[in-house]
Formats: sequence, C-alpha cells, structure tokens
Amino acid sequence: MSTCVDCAVIGAGVMGCSVALGLARAGMSVVLLDKGAICREASGVNAGTLTMQMTRAALIPYALKAWEFWMDTPRWLGLAVGTERRDGLSLAFTEAEAAMLEARAAARRAAGAPIELVGAARAREIEPGLTDRALMAGFCPVDGFTSAYLTGRAFRLALGAASVALREHDAAVGAERRQGRFVVRTAAGLRVEAARLVLAGGVWLEEMAAWFGIRLPIKVLINQLAVTERMPPVMRTVLGIASGLLSLKQYPSGTVLIGGGWQGCGGRHEGRGDAFIPDNLIGNIRLAAFVIPALRRARVVRAWLGLEAETADALPVLGPLPGVEDGWIIGSVHSGYTSGPFMGTLLADAILGRQHALPLFPIDRLLQPKAAA
Ligand SMILES: Cc1cc2nc3c(=O)[nH]c(=O)nc-3n(C[C@H](O)[C@H](O)[C@H](O)COP(=O)(O)OP(=O)(O)OC[C@H]3O[C@@H](n4cnc5c(N)ncnc54)[C@H](O)[C@@H]3O)c2cc1C
Repeated sequence: MSTCVDCAVIGAGVMGCSVALGLARAGMSVVLLDKGAICREASGVNAGTLTMQMTRAALIPYALKAWEFWMDTPRWLGLAVGTERRDGLSLAFTEAEAAMLEARAAARRAAGAPIELVGAARAREIEPGLTDRALMAGFCPVDGFTSAYLTGRAFRLALGAASVALREHDAAVGAERRQGRFVVRTAAGLRVEAARLVLAGGVWLEEMAAWFGIRLPIKVLINQLAVTERMPPVMRTVLGIASGLLSLKQYPSGTVLIGGGWQGCGGRHEGRGDAFIPDNLIGNIRLAAFVIPALRRARVVRAWLGLEAETADALPVLGPLPGVEDGWIIGSVHSGYTSGPFMGTLLADAILGRQHALPLFPIDRLLQPKAAA
C-alpha cells in the first residue's frame, strides 16, 4: 500500500493538525498520521486554559494571536470547542510570590499581555469566591478556557473539509529522505512518499528526530489533573498562582478542573505504566480548596495524567529540521495548547514560502552532537 503527497505530517495533536490544515487550505495534498486517535494525547487531555499569565514572555505575541483562533473556532474549524472567555487572576500569597508576580507580569506586559497588578480587595471583587489570604494578584482580561476533549472532534471536521487524509491508529515507524523525497513507513504497512515532511510528535519528537540522526533531547512532564463533581457556582475566573502550581476554573456544567503541573510518574515509552503520585494529587487539591474555600465541600470524581514535552530552554521547537531539506519540526511549546493554532499556522506559512508574521524557533540551539560512529 502506498500513497504520494505534497506533505506528510506525523502527529495529530494541535500542532500537527494546525500545520496540516494550513497547508491543505493553501492547496497542498496532505497525509496526517497518528499512532492513536486525533488529539488524544496532550492536545485532548490538557486543562484547556488559554492564559497569558502562565505563558512565557517570549511566547506572548504567539499566544495572543492564537487566543483569537480559540475564541472563534466555529469560523476557524467549523465547530465550537466549549470556549469560554473569562477574566484571569494569578495570585501571590507570600512576599516572595508577590515579587515573582511583579517581575513576571512586567515581562509579559512588555511583550503585549494586558496584565495589571491588583490588591487583595480588588482581586476579591473580581473573584468573589477567593480566599481572603491572597496578598495581591495579576489580573488579565484576555484569558479563558476550552473543553480540550472536544479539540479532536473540531479538527476532524475541518481537516475533512480541507481534504487532509487523516490516518489514525497507525504509527509511523520510520522516515528517511531518498532521491529528493521523503519515505514514511507505518506499522500497518503503508508507505507514504512526500515532497515535504513535518514532525509533530509531542513528547515523541526525540525519537522522530533520531530517524534523521538528530539528537534533540525532550523532557517529559507527567501532569496530573482532577475534576470535581458538579457544584453550584463557586468561582467565575481562571485562577492560577505565581509559582504556577495551580490552575483552576469552573465549567458551565458546574465541574471544577484542578491542575497546576503536579507530577505523576511514568514516561513516553511503550508500556510506560503512568501512575499518580497520591501525595501530589492531594497537595494540588488542598491548594485548590485553600484558594477557593467553597471547594472544601467538593468531591473529586475523576483524575488523569497527560504527557507534556519540554526542551532544555523551555522554548519551542519550531522550524526546519537541520540538514534535512524540506523537513520541518514543531512542538514542545510551553502553554502549547494556547499557542498551538498560531504556531501551526506560522509553520505552514514558512513551508509555503510565505512571509511569516513572527519568527520561528529553529532547533539548532538545542541539538546534542551526534554519537561518534
Ligand atoms: C495534563 C496537561 C495539561 C496541560 N494544560 C495546558 C493548558 O491548560 N493550557 C495550555 O496552553 N497548554 C497545556 N498543556 C500543554 C499542551 O497540552 C501541549 O503543549 C500541546 O497540546 C502539545 O501539542 P502537540 O501537538 O505538540 O502534542 P500532542 O498533543 O501530544 O500530539 C502529538 C501526537 O503525535 C502522535 N505520535 C507520536 N508518535 C507517533 C508516531 N510514531 N506515529 C504517529 N503519531 C505519533 C501522538 O499520538 C500524538 O497524538 C498541558 C499538557 C498536559 C499534558
């Protein structure tokens, strides 16, 4: 079985889907491969927060543009993904956190995020459910969330309308460049010939880059999330704290999603045996109930884990594959769900040879020397 296309994209998370969509809408024939179902790894199990306050300053211009995409998915993808625009608060409880908040808010404001520092009383006006123990907060009206599990459904529709050949549950097992074209082989025996290749494999980018002899170390964060039963309204904002150890929001259904990057254990390898670290789950939930006291009455109904990729400098992988003509790579973006739609569109523009609106993040800075033969 073989197929021949203008571009093969490996990995159907928010990054791969956005690149594939951009290319197909510009007229390219595109195959999009995933070892599982579309957007069922990080892009479907994340906390759905669309926040500037947890986004690194260098990525704020990207996140601001992508935020507009999320606010209007019916126009962009043809389907809503439960997007809610909400005010965002990032809280400080200690002097050290207040100093951290001030420094980070200043850097993000300089990068274009409309973040203002407010005192405790103003923070409680904005979020009446908040504890009276906070010292101050960063307030940003450009915030909100989606229901991340709906992401794949929306992309599936848009990719279909753009004639992208989406092939799920078939892992790419290798790719090489041969006689000026790429050849990708899959576990089910498909051979894809493509003029261009995009690697968009999330935490699996390290293995994909290795197909081309490129050593790109990717760290894996094993994030735990928990959700409560349906509650009467207990909060109206998207809440975080300066240290980044909390992300909290209440969905219109009444459930409250509790996250903040508290770690579980496991990894990206087959049979990885992901597992919770119960003390971390309890610590995360206690922190949530401290910040919004009404949550002390809530029961947690479900918890899960998801794998997030991070580079050595916590900045994105976004650009050409060094030394591989017409090869490209994208991923490992901090707050990557927020920025994903714009990052993907940007890479599509670069591949199409169009002027791209903001700079890429070439990976040469991250590479380790090849092992001696
Ligand atoms: C629990 C959790 C909470 C998070 N919360 C937030 C948040 O609130 N806000 C925010 O902005 N960001 C958040 N993030 C980060 C965000 O989810 C990620 O940065 C983003 O989704 C990464 O998208 P991606 O497309 O690069 O990777 P992924 O979504 O992981 O997609 C990679 C795809 O590649 C596929 N793949 C891998 N190997 C192969 C292969 N050999 N062949 C074919 N396919 C392959 C995988 O199956 C997968 O579908 C969170 C992450 C996690 C894990």
